[in-house]
Amino acid sequence: MSSNKKKLNLDIVWFKRDLRTLDNISLEIAANSSNPVLFIYLFEPTVMNYPDYDSRHLRFIYESLLDIEKKFKSYSLKLNLLKCEAQEFFEEISKKYNVNQVLSYQEIGNNLTFERDMYLLDFFKKNNIKWIQHKTNGVIRGLKSRKDWKKKWVDEMNSKISLSDLNLIDKTEVDIPKKIKSYSLNIINDKNFQPGGETYAWMYINSFLKERHKGYTKNISSPINSRTSCSRLSPYITYGNVSSKQVYQFFSKSKNRDIRSFLSRLQWRCHFMQKFDDEPSMEFDNINTAYNSIRNEYNKDLIFKWKEGKTGIPIIDACMRCLDKTGYLNFRMRAMIVSFAAFNLWQNWKNFSHFLARKFLDYEPGIHYSQIQMQSAVTGINTVRIYNPIKNSVLLDPDGQFIKKWVSELKFIPKEYIHEPWKMTKIEQEMYNFSINENYFSPIIDIEKSRKSASEKIWEIRKGLKSKIYANKIIKKHVNS
Ligand SMILES: Cc1cc2nc3c(=O)[nH]c(=O)nc-3n(C[C@H](O)[C@H](O)[C@H](O)COP(=O)(O)OP(=O)(O)OC[C@H]3O[C@@H](n4cnc5c(N)ncnc54)[C@H](O)[C@@H]3O)c2cc1C
Repeated sequence: MSSNKKKLNLDIVWFKRDLRTLDNISLEIAANSSNPVLFIYLFEPTVMNYPDYDSRHLRFIYESLLDIEKKFKSYSLKLNLLKCEAQEFFEEISKKYNVNQVLSYQEIGNNLTFERDMYLLDFFKKNNIKWIQHKTNGVIRGLKSRKDWKKKWVDEMNSKISLSDLNLIDKTEVDIPKKIKSYSLNIINDKNFQPGGETYAWMYINSFLKERHKGYTKNISSPINSRTSCSRLSPYITYGNVSSKQVYQFFSKSKNRDIRSFLSRLQWRCHFMQKFDDEPSMEFDNINTAYNSIRNEYNKDLIFKWKEGKTGIPIIDACMRCLDKTGYLNFRMRAMIVSFAAFNLWQNWKNFSHFLARKFLDYEPGIHYSQIQMQSAVTGINTVRIYNPIKNSVLLDPDGQFIKKWVSELKFIPKEYIHEPWKMTKIEQEMYNFSINENYFSPIIDIEKSRKSASEKIWEIRKGLKSKIYANKIIKKHVNS
């Protein structure tokens, strides 16, 4: 008799970016299985040390897990939070148990998690372990063509929500190998960030439907008003506190214009994730290689000032400081800070993409890299948009309310100068007891000159044959038909 036969059978539910109890297919399968079930979340040191990871993500994940744990307790189920590499965990657990199946959602993550999953695919195969990976956000793995993708996505969003009776799950106690049992995490509370968890996700969903959506379209680009008028669902969808399908079905009956506009963005989200799943190299490489010849000079000093919110352009500095402290900016402000770094400072997106990934609480690799490349105009297929920070500041923060909240140095500067304080004369500066270089910063760049120079360089490539050839390939591969 082989030693394998003596081992107890086991199913494993591996929570990844599906940190919820509702519409979770893994739980449905577990409830229908006759095997004992082990529920795990793995805090993987290599993942946590990857340059896109931040303590804000860790906190959100941890809060989400505590929420699941709370629900599990009422069903006498145990969620095991473990700190170890996935490879190590599965090797150890399969020494002790006869692992029948591993249930998880497909992870559309970074290169590290992709390689980890490739390794595990092989390991599970060799060890006769079934790995059932469910579709995430309607993304179709190994998609051959974008033909009918939209229709397939809508069908997926309208498909049945997964239901599971947690009472039915086998509760035989499962022993975790000692080697991987202990862990310590340094979680620091911070009320400036959205709290993680399924319960909070539904609070945000309900308040958006009840009241907050009313100003959605009008306020979407305002750095202040968008914070309440937008759904703020992004981190909850990123970490799977709710599925895209749940959100879609919750709102899809509405004919309200604001809600329809919000729903169309949910589809964009999945479109970008599909694009990334089909071409993961965009984490590192220009999607259109015709742009490889530009932005090859790294200016550490300019990037440092941009990161720190010390550029001397008030709206940019307000955005960078706000992002640092809260993990959130609306779409327009995100696009504008990338445009500023990529065009005005003429820096390569590769020199700041990981920094921004760490700062966005809702960091979703699929959206992040696509958007950063689009806003840097290295795709060759999207409109070249160079956002003028001063015009955007005047239009979207007319009274300087947002600027004054985050750039306290400018608190007492009058509205006429809040967007361009360097335009104050010496006498005016004295009047307001303010000196541009002592109390704040002179602009690190001439906005107009740098815009013009960047535009010329980008268009020179854009008009070239090489960019057009690659652009056609990109359209063929990634644009829905
Ligand atoms: C440089 C850059 C990086 C970005 N990185 C991310 C990211 O890592 N994660 C992320 O979720 N969004 C990202 N976005 C898209 C967008 O800015 C955020 O989704 C949005 O601001 C989140 O706020 P909300 O949930 O209130 O959005 P809402 O306006 O309420 O939209 C609803 C949902 O639709 C999706 N969505 C909205 N706008 C977009 C968009 N333009 N592209 C794709 N999906 C969208 C999000 O899931 C969002 O939660 C990025 C945008 C830019 C310009």
